[in-house]
Amino acid sequence: MNDNDILRFIASEDKQEIDTLFAQALKVRETHYGKSVYIRGLIEFTNYCKNDCYYCGLRCSNSKLERYRFSLEEILECCRTGDKLGIKTFVLQGGEDPWYTSERMTEIVSAIRKEFPEHAITLSIGERPMSDYESFFKAGANRYLLRHETASNDHYAKLHPKNMSLENRKQCLWNLKKIGYQVGAGFMVGTPHQTPECLLEDIHFLAELQPEMVGIGPFIPHKDTPFAEQSVGNLNLCLKMIAITRLILPKALMPATTAIGTITSNGRELALEAGANVFMPNLTPTAYRKLYALYDDKICTGDDAVKCISCMKNRIVCSGFTPEMVRGDAKL
Ligand code: SAH
Repeated sequence: MNDNDILRFIASEDKQEIDTLFAQALKVRETHYGKSVYIRGLIEFTNYCKNDCYYCGLRCSNSKLERYRFSLEEILECCRTGDKLGIKTFVLQGGEDPWYTSERMTEIVSAIRKEFPEHAITLSIGERPMSDYESFFKAGANRYLLRHETASNDHYAKLHPKNMSLENRKQCLWNLKKIGYQVGAGFMVGTPHQTPECLLEDIHFLAELQPEMVGIGPFIPHKDTPFAEQSVGNLNLCLKMIAITRLILPKALMPATTAIGTITSNGRELALEAGANVFMPNLTPTAYRKLYALYDDKICTGDDAVKCISCMKNRIVCSGFTPEMVRGDAKL
C-alpha cells in the first residue's frame, strides 16, 4: 500500500471501498491469528500525573479530579483477582506518577513476577529514563505500551505543553525496543488539528518502528481540559486506521479499545471486523474506575472484573471470534 492508497482510504466515504479494506485487513489478521482474540487484564493503578497533555482528563492542571494511587498489596490483589478469572497478562497503566520511583516500580514488578512466574507483565506508565526501563525489564516486565499519540512534530506541539517533546517519546520507544520489550505504539484519531497527513505520518512511523502492539482509538473530549469543546473522533476513520495498520503490520496485536466502545455501543465489535485482535477487560476495583477519567463518559466504570470479563467474552463470541485466555505474545 503506497501513500496515495493510504490517503485515498483516509478520505474515502465509498462504502464498497471501505468494506473491501476491512475485508482485506480481516483476512490478514486471520492468516496470523485465526479467530483468536487475546484477553489482557488492565489495572489502572494511579491517576496522578505530572504531565499536562491538553486532551487528557488526568492532566496535572485538572484540580477537580480526586486522585488515587495503589499500594503494592492493592496491585497484587488486582493481579490475584485477574489470575483467578484466567487472565494471563497484567497491564499496569497509570499517569506519569513520580511517587512510583524506579525503586518502587521495580519492587512492584518483582513482586508480581515472583507470585506469577508465567504471566506476561505489561507496563504503561509513560516516559522514563533508559535506566528505569532496564530495571523494570530485569525485574520481569515483558511489554510496554507507550502510544506516540501523533508522529507529526507540529501536531504534537498542538496537543502538549512545551516541556514535552515527540522526539523524547519516540526515543523512549526505541530504547524500550532495544532493551527487548515487546513494544506498543499508537495514536488517537480525531484529536484537534489532526490532518490526513498527520495520520499518514503515524503510519510511516509505525512502519519504521515495527512495534509488536498498536493502540488506536478515537479522541474523546474531557470536560475539564482545554479541549472540552472539541468534537469526538470519527468512528469510521478510526476503523479505517485500524485496518490500514493491520495491512502495514500484519502480525501486530491491536486492541479494540474502550474509547471506541465509548463512542459507539458496538464499536469494539466493529474494531474486530476491521482487524483488531485484543480485548482489555478492567481489573481495577470499581470504586476507582470513575477516577481514571481520561475522557468523558468512559464505559464499563460500574462493572467489576468478573462482569467485565464475561461481557467481553460474550461480545467476542457474538461477533464470531474466539476469546483466548492465553499470554498471547506477538508472533515473530
Ligand atoms: N501515562 C501513560 C498512559 C496514558 S493513558 C502514557 O503516557 O503512556 C493511555 C492513553 O489514553 C494515552 O496514551 C492516550 O492515547 C489515551 N487518551 C488520553 N486522553 C484521551 C482522550 N481524551 N480521548 C481518547 N484517548 C485518550
